[in-house]
Amino acid sequence: MSSNTHLRFNSHIGRQKPESIVNRETACPFCNRSQLSGILAEEGNIIWLKNKYPVLEDTLQTVIIETHECDSDLSLYTPDHLHRLFRFAFAKWQDMSDSGDYASVLFYKNHGPYSGGTIRHPHMQIVGLKYVDAMQHVEESQFTGIVIAKRQGVELNVSTLPRVGFVEFNVLLDDLRYLDDCADFTQIAVHYIMNHFSRNCNSYNLFFYGLHGEWRVKIVPRFVTSPLYVGFGIPQVSDRIDEVAEEIKERYFVEQERLEV
Ligand SMILES: [Zn+2]
Repeated sequence: MSSNTHLRFNSHIGRQKPESIVNRETACPFCNRSQLSGILAEEGNIIWLKNKYPVLEDTLQTVIIETHECDSDLSLYTPDHLHRLFRFAFAKWQDMSDSGDYASVLFYKNHGPYSGGTIRHPHMQIVGLKYVDAMQHVEESQFTGIVIAKRQGVELNVSTLPRVGFVEFNVLLDDLRYLDDCADFTQIAVHYIMNHFSRNCNSYNLFFYGLHGEWRVKIVPRFVTSPLYVGFGIPQVSDRIDEVAEEIKERYFVEQERLEV
């Protein structure tokens, strides 16, 4: 019984999945490197492998373990490691998309208890969907917003028409030559979310999209999902997005511009 709108979740496999975000006593499966199976590729301490608990039917679920440091986070990586990770992950995402085996390929990251993730160890996911088109509810308007920063080929903004709400950051990338800058902008948005956005925020998602030969990254601070969205599909936009854009400019970009002058 396959569908091209819904993914079927296998509850039997779901029950076996370890959880190490809330239960910090759970042994981390990604730290135990000698026990990892289904490895597809490695580069330094970055590993791409098959997900041991493939809960989604009619998919190929893969995981990129970003580092050997369990307590690290994307906001803490050196520029070298950040750029290496983005190049590696984008290449694997592209490989799966080019394989022709999938209707679409999801590429995303969960971090924190409200992100929907279950493993604390920093990782990303690339999931090939046999029948579902991941882009059927994705529109360019969800990536337009108040510009925070621009470099050649790359823009960082805060959504004026977010997909869900209330604050969503976007990185727009025109050309893969500027992927390092895309990684830098993504890291700044994540760092802001984890340190300055709200005292109550400890979770975020990254979502990556290919759209009309360009690329988009959506960086979303996560809280409990609004009932207006769950029940009625109505997204909300914060009345603070102008302030947030200004604050990020001041914290992360003003100093740099001064240096460049
Ligand atoms: Zn770990």
